[in-house]
Amino acid sequence: MVRHFFLFALVVCPSVVFATGRAPLNPRDQERYQRAKSKALKEIRQDRCQRFLAAHGIDPGLFFETLKNQQAYDGPHSTLTQEEAETTINAPYLTVARGFQRRHINACASYNGTDVYFAKGHHIREAVIEHEALHNMLKIGDEELQLRLGLKSQVEYTGNVTETLENHGCAPHPLSRIF
Ligand SMILES: [Zn+2]
Repeated sequence: MVRHFFLFALVVCPSVVFATGRAPLNPRDQERYQRAKSKALKEIRQDRCQRFLAAHGIDPGLFFETLKNQQAYDGPHSTLTQEEAETTINAPYLTVARGFQRRHINACASYNGTDVYFAKGHHIREAVIEHEALHNMLKIGDEELQLRLGLKSQVEYTGNVTETLENHGCAPHPLSRIF
């Protein structure tokens, strides 16, 4: 009986998952994501981060809820179109996977309010998860988000959003990982 159940699960689950075109993260990355997200949910409740969010008109409670409800997927293996995913990488009619073939793309968020797609495991960290949650919540692109956070608006480098979250106590600073 047990063996039959596992066979059934193996056959049925992939078709359910791939019907949506959203590929799940591999188990190791999913665990990494859950761990980083739990940490991020604690970090954004710190006073310093709360002040930073409020100073830029970001409702901390709504941000917390958005982050909590965020769902992560594997970008390079997701076969739905960018239009279907409600995201913008390079062209709406191309798949999310095709978008991820572009260099320097680590993650992208959906304007559907919950979904985020990641490239590789090491990009799955607190500040990146929060950066994507801001897109989920505010439904704006990088240039607008950069302006909203008082940063230089530049399409060629959007890591400044991630860095400002780290620099204002919303996520552990990468240098702190070394020690
Ligand atoms: Zn962004």
